Amino acid sequence: MAGARLPRTPQRNHMALLRALTEVVGVSGDEDAVRKLVRDQVAPLADEVRVDALGNLLAIRRGSSQHRVRVMVAAHMDEAGLMVTGVESDGVLRVAPVGSILPEDLAGKAFWVGRARVPGVIGLTPPHLTRGKEPQSRLAADQLRVDIGAAGREQALERVRVGDRASFATALTRMGDCVSAKALDDRLGVAILVELLGAAPPNVDLLAAFTVQEEVGLRGAGVAAHSLDPEVAIAVDCTPARDLPRWDGGENTDYNTRLGLGPALYIADRATVSDQRLLDHFESTARVARIPYQLRQPGGGSTDAGAIHRARKGIPTISVSVPGRYPHSAAGLIRIDDWRNTVLLLHTALARLSSQALVRRRGV
Ligand SMILES: [Zn+2]
Repeated sequence: MAGARLPRTPQRNHMALLRALTEVVGVSGDEDAVRKLVRDQVAPLADEVRVDALGNLLAIRRGSSQHRVRVMVAAHMDEAGLMVTGVESDGVLRVAPVGSILPEDLAGKAFWVGRARVPGVIGLTPPHLTRGKEPQSRLAADQLRVDIGAAGREQALERVRVGDRASFATALTRMGDCVSAKALDDRLGVAILVELLGAAPPNVDLLAAFTVQEEVGLRGAGVAAHSLDPEVAIAVDCTPARDLPRWDGGENTDYNTRLGLGPALYIADRATVSDQRLLDHFESTARVARIPYQLRQPGGGSTDAGAIHRARKGIPTISVSVPGRYPHSAAGLIRIDDWRNTVLLLHTALARLSSQALVRRRGV
């Protein structure tokens, strides 16, 4: 199996890339820092690299076989976070959520503001001073303020400006067989796509799309799909694993995915019904190559697939995700073997892909 040539354990450069990718601020609409990192990585690997009008980074690596399948593989560069909406006279920043971020979870959290990663914190009244009053830790969206230690508005505006994005200030940490970091959704997908580009099998033209603005409505991916015009598409993401036991002792039936069971194949989410032929292809590949996989519980959520499959005249699409706990929070957590098995499954499935097989499976 061609996929078996890829390492099952992350090499030092894989981990270094994931660290670099997760430790920059790349909130939707300002993916610049991520794009620069990715561009440096893919330039030597691809035949063609370009950035489109919305900011999607498209990298094309052509295969060498005579009959090749044009496959788009997408991973989104942006993360959910905050945007500076104003600066108060005392130098504290007013901010608003960008994407799915829960304001009530933010009290006491540290942030990096802007491309310069200016450190800041969302304040919290000490619990022992709120006795008898309304607890102030549960913030509403219009109460969010980031303190960057500025003495007043003027000093604050020397460091930040309205429109700057802010992300959680979290360094990547290795935790035994796991990795904890912010923005694993979807910088892990980005790292996987960079690795695939470097090892693309000869039977495919790999059309890699590092997309923008997924977290605010899958806005970049549809444009990228229109431009790349693939025969099939795969969205690579990091999907929530709510797999810990329920604290009330009841059976956990709504886990979405589970850590340690391998890449999660999507059947259907809120925005997409996966192409059945691609689902069959991935399942049979996993069985033949003995790569663990799981079926994500069908239901809510969405990935770039939601925009890609409706582009042009319709594009057969599937999502393949690494299960990850605590997405859109200060610190998510993934298992390294799930990451590596996702790379292996994607690579092996690409190597076994042919246009004829897809047509045959539809029964025409
Ligand atoms: Zn995502």
